[in-house]
Amino acid sequence: PKVLLTGGSGFIAAHVLELLLKRGYEVVTTVRSETKASQIRAKYPGAKLSVAIVPNIAVPNAFDEVIANTPGIDYVQHTASPFHFKFTDARTELLDPAINGTKGILQAIAKYAPSVKRVIVTSSFAAIMSENKMSDTTKVFSEADWNPSTYEDGLKGPPPTSYRVSKKYAEKAAWDFVEQEKPGFDLATICPPMVFGPVAHHLDSLKDINTSNQRFVDLIQGKWKDEIPTSGVWLWVDVRDVALAHVKAMELPEAGGQRFFTTAGFYDNVQLARAVRKGFPDLADKLPGDNVKLAPGAEKPAETFGYDNSRTSKVLGIDWIPVDKAAVDTVKSLLEIPA
Ligand code: NDP
Repeated sequence: PKVLLTGGSGFIAAHVLELLLKRGYEVVTTVRSETKASQIRAKYPGAKLSVAIVPNIAVPNAFDEVIANTPGIDYVQHTASPFHFKFTDARTELLDPAINGTKGILQAIAKYAPSVKRVIVTSSFAAIMSENKMSDTTKVFSEADWNPSTYEDGLKGPPPTSYRVSKKYAEKAAWDFVEQEKPGFDLATICPPMVFGPVAHHLDSLKDINTSNQRFVDLIQGKWKDEIPTSGVWLWVDVRDVALAHVKAMELPEAGGQRFFTTAGFYDNVQLARAVRKGFPDLADKLPGDNVKLAPGAEKPAETFGYDNSRTSKVLGIDWIPVDKAAVDTVKSLLEIPA
């Protein structure tokens, strides 16, 4: 079978690509530049793989050409979407690529690719969570929840809010599209929280690390030595499990029409630091010691929200990789990349 994978140069997509090729799929992946295309081709010589250039998914009809020119696509994995806080204009740099990119690929498939049976969209826990319920011990987040933040909240920011809103409205646009247009394909969405794990995409330098692995770069470069910073959303998942979820959601008939809350559970930065210290005694002089100062929120308090990922674990049958292993494998991969 043939799969179109968008954003193949990304952190998560590189693992989806690896898994698809390993499982015998023919893959067409899109990236933004010829440089990134040749890096991917060089990694997989002789594979059933081709790489197409789509420079900016925010632009109307961005995917038309690649989809119209690729006959016989069976499945689409749409992962491309900006995940960084380096933008100056939330609408054009974040909301438009996320939302228009998602609408645009679905429109292009409906128009040009009747062979497509299912589309998987990479959404996020950002589309599920509520910013004002993160300390609410009575709240249990699951696939039933939608982030209540509005598009206007996204325009206003701060940047993490804009990012969350971009993911919410992108995912919503996908569900609305299949409901209203009743196309010949069905949809499944993957909603991971913070994704950690080894780097499989090409990186010239650790300066270009993806957003969710930035903390491990900081950790091994000594930036946590005097103080462990605040952890963030408390929930995490390994990138290899996220990739597996994308592929299983594509392969399993019963996954059609479902949202998947892919999380391995809670973490905090204190736990990550401890796992890395245990796994890499040679890095000790860069890493925080036992009595290091903790920033507020470095350690997970007892009073946080709850989560329920039981349906996802059951339907997709994933045995989540534990956090200590993820932390060690992440650092191992970072140590091979130039600073
Ligand atoms: P990356 O930044 O590594 O990947 C993002 C990908 O999207 C890159 O290939 C990037 O290309 C591409 N992209 C971004 N903006 C555009 C654009 N305007 N036009 C074309 N391509 C674009 O991050 P991740 O792998 O982490 O993210 C992949 C997906 O997973 C995203 O949808 C993200 O929202 C989602 N996600 C990630 C989580 C995480 O913790 N990592 C958690 C939850 C969801 P380029 O690098 O060339 O700019």
